[in-house]
Amino acid sequence: MSGPEIHRGSCRCGHVTFEVSGQVPPVTICHCSQCRNWSGHIFAAAPVPRAALRLTREDGLAWFQSSDHARRGFCRDCGASLFWSGAGEAHIAVAGGAFDGPTGSRVGRHIFTEYAGDYYTPAAPPPLRAPRGGPLEGRCLCGGVAFTLPGPARSVTACHCVQCRKLSGHFSASFDADEAALTYRARATLAEFATPDGGTRGHCRDCGSSLWFRARDGSFAVEAGAIRGATGGQMESHIFVSEKGDYYEIADGLPQHAAW
Ligand SMILES: [Zn+2]
Ligand SMILES: [Zn+2]
Ligand SMILES: [Zn+2]
Repeated sequence: MSGPEIHRGSCRCGHVTFEVSGQVPPVTICHCSQCRNWSGHIFAAAPVPRAALRLTREDGLAWFQSSDHARRGFCRDCGASLFWSGAGEAHIAVAGGAFDGPTGSRVGRHIFTEYAGDYYTPAAPPPLRAPRGGPLEGRCLCGGVAFTLPGPARSVTACHCVQCRKLSGHFSASFDADEAALTYRARATLAEFATPDGGTRGHCRDCGSSLWFRARDGSFAVEAGAIRGATGGQMESHIFVSEKGDYYEIADGLPQHAAW
């Protein structure tokens, strides 16, 4: 006789690990400005009964009170977006990207699509817009990190690699920027996580927001969700789709590349 199915998950650095027993419920994808700011793009999570979630390592786990009603759980060491917990709710939302293996799940619904960013649409190519100039304002959810950089964002790339999925909680969307042209207005809570491939990922250690990625060769990309208001950018392609999660399909008609 076999026991209930177990789905294991973790943050990128391994300082938070968990198990979900039983089936992974259908995933909800949230486009609200808080979820975009926190995850770096959009946040996707499965509402798991609290009793079915067991933390097996939690020394990296931190919680940020993002509203009167809700807290967001993340790894303060690598910045991975992991959990969304509503006060008094019987379920806790577990990030789809945090699962180590296949989830056997699917997308159940999209919510707050009216707050989607200007650089994508959930199920179609983003509308063509005239590039908008002017500086871009970026910040984390708590305001401990805030920065300005020249706009517009122009070309936004979605990355489905395991690392981006672990850190964002779903998949990432970012645009190339000149790091030397980025000016911090606040950076007291900025944390940098050294990725195993020699890159560096910037996040807020107090709220867990994903902010930017610096590759080993020095090229620099800013998470589209970190920008307040319009980015002036457009998603143009999906990369590393060979590492995509099993619970979602890419349905916007944009080019897909197995690697990059
Ligand atoms: Zn971690
Ligand atoms: Zn913050
Ligand atoms: Zn990636």
